[in-house]
Amino acid sequence: MSDYVNELLSEIKAKNPSEPEFHQAVQEVVESLDAVLERHPEYRAARIVERMIEPERVLMFRVPWVDDQGLVQVNRGFRIEMNSAIGPYKGGLRFHPSVNLGILKFLAFEQVFKNSLTTLPMGGGKGGSDFDPKGKSDGEVMRFCQSFMSELQRHIGPNTDVPAGDIGVGGREIGYLFGQYKKLRNEFTGILTGKGLNWGGSLIRPEATGYGSVYFCCEMLATRSQSMDGKVCLVSGSGNVAQFTTEKINDLGGKVVTLSDSGGYIYDEEGISPEKLAFIMELKNVRRGRISAYAEQYPGAVYTPTDADRDHNPLWSHKADCAFPSATQNEINEKDAQNLVDNGVLAVSEGANMPTTLAGVNVFLNAGVLYGPAKAANAGGVAVSGLEMAQNSQRLPWTREEVDQRLQLIMRNIHETCVEMAGRFGTPNNYVNGANIGGFLKVADAMLDQGIV
Ligand code: NDP
Repeated sequence: MSDYVNELLSEIKAKNPSEPEFHQAVQEVVESLDAVLERHPEYRAARIVERMIEPERVLMFRVPWVDDQGLVQVNRGFRIEMNSAIGPYKGGLRFHPSVNLGILKFLAFEQVFKNSLTTLPMGGGKGGSDFDPKGKSDGEVMRFCQSFMSELQRHIGPNTDVPAGDIGVGGREIGYLFGQYKKLRNEFTGILTGKGLNWGGSLIRPEATGYGSVYFCCEMLATRSQSMDGKVCLVSGSGNVAQFTTEKINDLGGKVVTLSDSGGYIYDEEGISPEKLAFIMELKNVRRGRISAYAEQYPGAVYTPTDADRDHNPLWSHKADCAFPSATQNEINEKDAQNLVDNGVLAVSEGANMPTTLAGVNVFLNAGVLYGPAKAANAGGVAVSGLEMAQNSQRLPWTREEVDQRLQLIMRNIHETCVEMAGRFGTPNNYVNGANIGGFLKVADAMLDQGIV
């Protein structure tokens, strides 16, 4: 690491204590930018990186609501408006008890680069709450969403900030949030993406992150003259991203043998067929049940509960060709990465945000694994959100085929950008550097053009 990068990291740690995920995300990016900053002193002179790591605005607010017992509950709401150099702030809302300022800052920071890579005009943001939708009734979730939006509505708008879903925020939550915005503001505009199809949503938006992660993996495999056909795949998570990753792998002739939730994971050697996936979708999206129910339904599958005392996650110890971490941050540590490599993994495509620790990333890079980092591999979700914004502005819906073709093209372009930038700055085949540099340059140039703001 150069002195400049070291100083920057020390400063960010001193200024933002207790935000380890944010430090991790910044470290990964600035390490990649060493060669760029060396060749382009104008970025350092304008202190572009220092400005990019400071959010343009941080909103934090009280979210009071009444539960089914009539008791008053209080949660904390956030919106991080990170960077608007190339478009309105754009990024999801996460409802999960682990949500705090540091987690959302890491996500918002990543989002700036990811959105830039999509080639669409979107800045970066992220938000959410420490509210846990698990185990809550629909009425409780609705009252929480209404209270959350009562404050958030002051800060968002179709040309200002357009949130979407993330962990714990799916179609149900987006509906309640949109309804409250419309009531308070008396306007029907595209202030959220991931909307229902009957009220401004885009076809393929629910599928986009998972499909995009598989398309990105196919692009990486093609560089070694391989395809998804016949590949055995490990997928983690069982939410939106994991479900549609599994669907697309099945479509392309691959076989998914694992899925998980925070309680544990299932291993099904036979593969999670479209029929079994339909069971999972009903289990998770309608009944809101646990993944362990899969092993009760399909006795050939083995369920392993999560054990926090283990130094690795056994899900990643199964032999496979491809891995799609699609649950949450830091779910692949150094040992997990080594287990995957020892079992001959060819490609890793990150559906989740920052699912691999920095030490794990180095294991993949040193072993020559085709490693697609989150900000490239999972950019399909926000890309189709961008297409949803375009359709809302036009007031015209596009067909499923049109959106899917655009998604495939965007993922191909992101892959090309990563390859080109990695090569141009001296680290061929390093998708981490390629994605960070490709995402950075566009935002940095826009910031230079727009002056010190
Ligand atoms: P969902 O809420 O639909 O599903 C999340 C899944 O991950 C669930 O199976 C959940 O299990 C599991 N999970 C969540 N937190 C943990 C944890 N701390 N430990 C273990 N498992 C956990 O979310 P999404 O599928 O939308 O998001 C998954 C990942 O993809 C996230 O990293 C998100 O940021 C990223 N992403 C999502 C996009 C989207 O369009 N939705 C776009 C780009 C990235 P449980 O139910 O037990 O909590």
